[in-house]
Amino acid sequence: MIELRAMGQLGMPELLVILVIIIFLFGANRIPEIAKGIGSAIRNFKNETNDSGSPRTATCSSCATVNDPDSRFCRKCGTKLS
Ligand SMILES: [Zn+2]
Repeated sequence: MIELRAMGQLGMPELLVILVIIIFLFGANRIPEIAKGIGSAIRNFKNETNDSGSPRTATCSSCATVNDPDSRFCRKCGTKLS
């Protein structure tokens, strides 16, 4: 709805016509399915951006050993992992 409003040219009657066309094309029982699909697509996108932002492994700053992400100390040299 926010995206449609951002277009600036669609009023409430046009939105209702579009909604009726969508219901006619997909069937009213498919709407939750479509909404779920859009929701999971957004979730996947967020997960991908999170993955690129924070690495899943904890690399030791002094010996460069790759440790488990939840480990607090390096398993090789014992340096505290941030
Ligand atoms: Zn280390």
